[in-house]
Amino acid sequence: VSSERERRAARQWLEVAGDHPAAAALEAVYARAAQQIEARGPACWASGRCCRFARAGHRLYVTGLEAAYCVLRAPACGPAGASGLRLAVAGAGEDCPFLDGPARTRCGVHPVKPLGCRLYFCDRAAQDWQRRLHEDLLREVRAIHDAHAIPYLYAEWRGLLALVAGVAGATPGGEERSSA
Ligand code: SF4
Repeated sequence: VSSERERRAARQWLEVAGDHPAAAALEAVYARAAQQIEARGPACWASGRCCRFARAGHRLYVTGLEAAYCVLRAPACGPAGASGLRLAVAGAGEDCPFLDGPARTRCGVHPVKPLGCRLYFCDRAAQDWQRRLHEDLLREVRAIHDAHAIPYLYAEWRGLLALVAGVAGATPGGEERSSA
């Protein structure tokens, strides 16, 4: 159960996560991440392992703005995006609620996924640089929160997603009210 303070923070993230300079600044960070990944070419076997948190013993952390950015755009990503929001609010399962595909190895919100997903590769050769790059880009995301006077929170993905999706109007069995 979220507190009023958390719900107020979620409303502030949602206010700037749509068509707003804060969202544009976040997209610029994502573009820099993509450039770096393309330049380094880490291997990804698309196994979906890193999205099965309990089995992989992996926890994904994201910022409040990133969660809001994803929540507003998830329905436009397709059925897995919309249903993922409902699963998130319901607190269903242990994996990422956006896992998609017959073998559940695909990301249902690939274009709008958070930095932690963009910069996570099991490729052993990528461990050092991906950690440093993640730290650098995370500082930039934090600076966006400061520049736009929105609360900064870096928290576990499923919990933050449930909070923000709930405030945005997603319900366990219903439709989402918000759109980007
Ligand atoms: S948002 Fe996509 S890439 Fe990230 S954990 Fe969920 S399914 Fe995996």
